[in-house]
Amino acid sequence: MNKTYLLTPGPTPLPQEVREAMARQIIHHRTSQFQNVLKECSQGLKEVFQTKNDIFMLTSSGTGAMEAAVVNLLSPNDSAICVQAGKFGERWTELCKAFCIKQEVIDVKWGYAVNPKLIEDKLKANSNIKAVFVTLCETSTATAVDIKTIGEIVKNSQAVLVVDAISGLGAVDLETDAWGVDVVVVGSQKGLMLPPGLAFISMSSKAQNLMDNAKSPRYYFDMRKAKKAWDQTDTPFTPAVSLVIALKEALDIIKKEGLAKRFARFSLYARAAREAAKAIGLSIFAKDLSDAVTAINLPDNIDGEKLVKTMRDTYGVGIAGGQAELKGKIVRIAHMGYISAEDTIAAISCLEKVLTEMGYNFKQGAGVSKAEEILRTAK
Ligand SMILES: *Cc1c(COP(=O)(O)O)cnc(C)c1O
Repeated sequence: MNKTYLLTPGPTPLPQEVREAMARQIIHHRTSQFQNVLKECSQGLKEVFQTKNDIFMLTSSGTGAMEAAVVNLLSPNDSAICVQAGKFGERWTELCKAFCIKQEVIDVKWGYAVNPKLIEDKLKANSNIKAVFVTLCETSTATAVDIKTIGEIVKNSQAVLVVDAISGLGAVDLETDAWGVDVVVVGSQKGLMLPPGLAFISMSSKAQNLMDNAKSPRYYFDMRKAKKAWDQTDTPFTPAVSLVIALKEALDIIKKEGLAKRFARFSLYARAAREAAKAIGLSIFAKDLSDAVTAINLPDNIDGEKLVKTMRDTYGVGIAGGQAELKGKIVRIAHMGYISAEDTIAAISCLEKVLTEMGYNFKQGAGVSKAEEILRTAK
């Protein structure tokens, strides 16, 4: 029996339409045929990003778009605020370090969202700060950040607001233009229902002004080249043609359902997963909860790595464990992309089964039953 389920916070499962699109014969990228696909993708992406800004497409994983943000906005010795509340927030700091940007780090206890007031204070204390780097959903801890409030603060400053929405976009609300977000970076393999390999970066005019003057070294990720090509519905280098064609299918699926409905659905799965965990005596790791992914604390005597491995290798149910200091201590279940209510029930059921095998004592079936009760309330 090789039926599998995938509920990791990236990669996420692929809809049939996406898989079939990728199996088609390749076409050349400097053709009107491909340009039509690019145009449609550009339009569809703008709806999902909730922006009128340019959105450039990169052939890389999500981190490539993060690097593109740093090198196109800043010059060596510029200052930037990096909010660090988990593994992915740390990546902003590491990127800034690699490109000789002075980092004003705001360290936040894992599981908590940054207090926007701390960003406001730092911006007031140092008028040289050119960028604020934050994370919409800190995937390593399943924590949500209040981008709207941060946007109101940064909008009135000299700095640009850069949001890593790699795991959050398409799963939770991010009103790029309405909230004053200058730059959003996203990867293809989470909320967008594609395989890994594409990244996206949206840039406001405030951000594009910085791009024209930034002195950081850049070549492949030089967004001035991307902008020039994009204005002709083109890309500076060979794009991942099959992924772009598949993106068109994924965007059609998102549009057909509508963003609001999708957000409500993932929010419901998140509530089902949290309440199921509590029903079997487990607690939730994050205090500021993201609806894109749920992190569940494991009992002290359960080896989380073994649990995840058994679920995957014995039962075909893929969920994620903890990273860095949370290794072995939590499990993470994603609510994004093509993940359904049925997938969510399967994950909870399998989690219960393996926890029982590993000797954890609880009322068996209580998690599944609670989750089903919550999911049934949905239309
Ligand atoms: C997955 C993820 C990344 C890393 O993306 P890659 O595609 O692996 O480069 C960065 N930030 C967040 C919030 C993520 O969830």
